[in-house]
Amino acid sequence: MHRFKYIGRSLFCEKVKVSDIAAKVGTPLYVYSRNTLLDHYAKIKEAFASVSPLICFSVKSNSNLSVLRALVKAGAGVDIVSGGELYRAKLAGAPPERVVYAGVGKRRDEIMDAIRYGILFFNVESEEELTLVNACAASLGKKVNVAVRINPDVDVSTHDYIKTGKGQTKFGVNFDTAKRIFRSSWKYRNIAIRGVHIHIGSQILNPQPFRRAIKKVLGFLDKNSLLVEYLNIGGGMGVVYSLEKPQTATGFAGKILPLVRKSNLKLILEPGRFIAANSGILVTMVLFRKKNGQKRFIIVDGAMNDLIRPSLYEAYHEILPVTKPRRRASVARYDIVGPVCETGDFLAKNRKMTEPASGDLLAVMGSGAYGYSMSSNYNSRPRAAEVIVDGNKFFVVKKRETYGDLVRGETIR
Ligand SMILES: *Cc1c(COP(=O)(O)O)cnc(C)c1O
Repeated sequence: MHRFKYIGRSLFCEKVKVSDIAAKVGTPLYVYSRNTLLDHYAKIKEAFASVSPLICFSVKSNSNLSVLRALVKAGAGVDIVSGGELYRAKLAGAPPERVVYAGVGKRRDEIMDAIRYGILFFNVESEEELTLVNACAASLGKKVNVAVRINPDVDVSTHDYIKTGKGQTKFGVNFDTAKRIFRSSWKYRNIAIRGVHIHIGSQILNPQPFRRAIKKVLGFLDKNSLLVEYLNIGGGMGVVYSLEKPQTATGFAGKILPLVRKSNLKLILEPGRFIAANSGILVTMVLFRKKNGQKRFIIVDGAMNDLIRPSLYEAYHEILPVTKPRRRASVARYDIVGPVCETGDFLAKNRKMTEPASGDLLAVMGSGAYGYSMSSNYNSRPRAAEVIVDGNKFFVVKKRETYGDLVRGETIR
């Protein structure tokens, strides 16, 4: 459930008219509903309440400081994948004991910063990384907690680019390597291996692959008599973009909890999309309409640099008018495309909709996760503004970039 609803002909975010925000802030524009974010977080928290898990919001899905702050204040931790995300986590006030840090390519400076901050865990993804974390910890005279990220080699039905738990992907270590790491843990004097971590992919609609992966990992611990305290099952819970029928948080928990309870391990989850996707929209303005042969195009001011999911994953996003037209004007199929000079620059293809007029606003739904956080300056386009709505108020929480921002740090010589 999200809080983007029509009242009369106007799309509202909570109690604020989206067109009012756009009139004030301009387009393209991201709008987030604070209370939807908090609802989604609460849903997972309640579903798993019986084991009091640590829920670490995946910062890469939406890195906006106000979004992070809202969730951290509600009790969430954060799942980070870079030094930059650590920096954001600190600014958002995430307590170190609620920060976990994954990623296959952590640099020494990033590791040092995270140790200094005192994060709960590194989710280590290779033996060489373990050696480096150990050396960093030694140089700071600290003992550091890690979880071993295991690649459980389970397939999931999602887009190839967002599968992360197949044997052939770069993530985690296989069971043989994990075994070697546990067996040689004495070598890493400044490290305590306190958990296992999996993250098998994203936009996964049913709990079966999670169950398979968890069973494999628990079986591995059991068979080798390995003792750890934490089981981190990552993120990946799917959401509704159009006709998907994903598990609910309660349905998901119902399938996962029996396994977790039996293991007696403390549970960590790292949801990103589940919390953020349907908590945000991208608002864009229609610039032109045109026809090339039989093909009809609606050209809008938002583009692949603002929201790359359609171009990158062929992802589907529902597109709604911010103000519904009075009468049914002509309905046809359109490609909704941006100004970027790439054939792959589209927000929707072959979409049946009422023809909008130039100047109309469109809402690209479900854009709160992997939207702004994946945006770029390609074609020297300043990044969009971000707004957060709380009840009947809205706040610009990231100013639209200026041309000056585009060249910051550049010199001519
Ligand atoms: C991206 C990522 C997540 C979040 O995935 P979602 O599909 O957005 O829930 C969680 N954990 C790790 C390690 C990730 O890389």
